[in-house]
Amino acid sequence: MNPIKNKKPVRSFTGEKWRTNGTNKKYLAADFDNKCAYCDDWDKFSGGYNSYHVEHFAPKEKFKHLEFVYDNLLYSCPYCNISKSNKWIGSSADECVVGNQGFVDPCTDEYYKHLERDNDGNIIYLSPIGEYMYYELKLYLRRHFILYNLERIRLRRIALKEKIEEKTIKGEDVSTLNEVYNVICKVFCEYYELLLQDEPVTLLAK
Ligand SMILES: [Zn+2]
Repeated sequence: MNPIKNKKPVRSFTGEKWRTNGTNKKYLAADFDNKCAYCDDWDKFSGGYNSYHVEHFAPKEKFKHLEFVYDNLLYSCPYCNISKSNKWIGSSADECVVGNQGFVDPCTDEYYKHLERDNDGNIIYLSPIGEYMYYELKLYLRRHFILYNLERIRLRRIALKEKIEEKTIKGEDVSTLNEVYNVICKVFCEYYELLLQDEPVTLLAK
């Protein structure tokens, strides 16, 4: 099993510093390593920075005073942001969970107790609260599994390429490593092709 996110994000600021989403977004992108707070999809794989959203953890429609409060903001992919919309189970901004339902801030350790990745890269839930988030954020979408694996393969390809260059300079045999490199490139292309296909309808239904 693997954590749902490779790194727990940390917000660099607190309180209300900038009163525009545009300014907050620049800082959020850096704090979240350009990855969605909830699903960890990298923005570069789906339209880049401009296609990502400023997500209000406690919805701004219900808690207007938190619209620009940095502690309430997250960098999010459009899939998670639109899925979450203005859903909120509590009666106040602090009440993010009621019983077994609600959302947990991905900047807290608590988030990782409810959601995880299986060894294939699928997001899975570990608790009833995790199950709630899994369905409400549509974390079952195939794109989250595909993008996770694309990134995993991309990093391995880079590491292997560096190794091959290092050994080539030393005059060592790199034929086996080159074979592995070619396989990795093939797998990368296959995952990329998957991304271009539509989501299967069966996965979209709860
Ligand atoms: Zn997301």
